[in-house]
Amino acid sequence: MDVLVLGGGYAGLLVTRKLERRLPESATLTLVDETGTHLVQHELHRAIRDPEYVDDIDVPLGEILDRASLREARVTDVDRATRTVSLADGDELDYDYCVVALGVETEFYGIPGVEEHATPLKRLEHAAEIRREFEAVIDQQGHEDPTTPAESTGTVVVGGAGLSGVQVAGELAAMAREREVADDIEVVLLEQLETVAPGFPERFQEATHERLEAQGVDVRPGTTVTAADESEITTEGGTIDYDQFVWTGGIRGNEAMGGDRPQVRGDLRLDGRTFALGDAVRIVDADGEPVPASASAAVRASETVARNVVAAATADGGFVDLAQWRWESPGWLISIGDDAVAQVGPTVLTGAPANALKSAVGITYLAEHGSFRRALDVLRKEADDTGSFAGLLEQL
Ligand SMILES: Cc1cc2nc3c(=O)[nH]c(=O)nc-3n(C[C@H](O)[C@H](O)[C@H](O)COP(=O)(O)OP(=O)(O)OC[C@H]3O[C@@H](n4cnc5c(N)ncnc54)[C@H](O)[C@@H]3O)c2cc1C
Repeated sequence: MDVLVLGGGYAGLLVTRKLERRLPESATLTLVDETGTHLVQHELHRAIRDPEYVDDIDVPLGEILDRASLREARVTDVDRATRTVSLADGDELDYDYCVVALGVETEFYGIPGVEEHATPLKRLEHAAEIRREFEAVIDQQGHEDPTTPAESTGTVVVGGAGLSGVQVAGELAAMAREREVADDIEVVLLEQLETVAPGFPERFQEATHERLEAQGVDVRPGTTVTAADESEITTEGGTIDYDQFVWTGGIRGNEAMGGDRPQVRGDLRLDGRTFALGDAVRIVDADGEPVPASASAAVRASETVARNVVAAATADGGFVDLAQWRWESPGWLISIGDDAVAQVGPTVLTGAPANALKSAVGITYLAEHGSFRRALDVLRKEADDTGSFAGLLEQL
């Protein structure tokens, strides 16, 4: 029996690890990923300010897998009717059971000029590119010598204030402070909807907005981008001259899925032999609740998918009583430069306690799914950068 898992992100890696332990010995388990590494994407914005993070958040999948074999290749198509996965290298893989966990791509909504002039943030090379562009803005302001005043003000615009946009804006503002150019570079965060972190609890949104402003970010909700060229962004409310443009304004389905994010319900199946989770699909859980695209949801859905694949594989064509998944949010945690916002139940935390929580969650994840050495590296850096643990201890 051939079982394929497509995508080695949070969703695919966690399902694979569970299937390694639970599938019968006779089953062949293959994880297909185009990069061959597991990117801890919810920390990707950190690599903009501190490229040293790259080693910690990009973990070779071969280091993590036991029984599953890794196929480093780009999936171009999933044909569910013939149960065949096509790869960019021309090969085809047949499957008895498949888990689609390919994540998403950046959506530019066809807004004229945006894809051409803005840099998205999905991969490590994007983080490096955003850093290079930001450094060019600093240089352009006549800042080779920080003791001389800037010749002009630089404007860095981040379009889209979801989880990634908020955190990118926070990192860039912190980077400007670290380089002592905060007075000469403005970081502007645009959001089409009326609030930052749309779809999240109201108190979390308010705290996020407030912490962004406290970090020096110019937050502009209710601002719709309608076009961009090489120097100007047009919005419904007027134009903005920019020096750097980062786009985190939306997600679209993976190309291998025809650009779609098909809907799955609580049993997380696309059909009797194909399951899907993570950002790649729109999940409506067993209670009929839409589930936000997030690392948090991808991790939590993995248990139900693994269970259902094993149940289906064991029944092999017979009746299967599939488990149903309910999304229970454990709360939310984001970083805003050296600050953080955490929502745990009804409580919203900021500053040192939120920073410590954020670090603890990230480090636990790395220790469980990356490596203990990487977790220790991050712990050391976070303690140096934000003083989060020291800060928390001082408050206790
Ligand atoms: C900057 C940033 C900050 C974020 N912060 C948070 C946060 O604080 N909290 C939170 O919960 N979420 C956060 N998110 C969202 C979170 O990272 C995603 O929701 C999460 O990565 C989804 O997991 P996934 O496994 O579905 O997809 P991914 O993690 O994107 O994994 C998809 C995998 O599939 C592989 N792949 C893609 N296409 C192909 C192909 N055609 N062929 C083969 N392999 C392919 C990729 O290499 C990748 O390994 C953030 C995202 C970003 C970008």
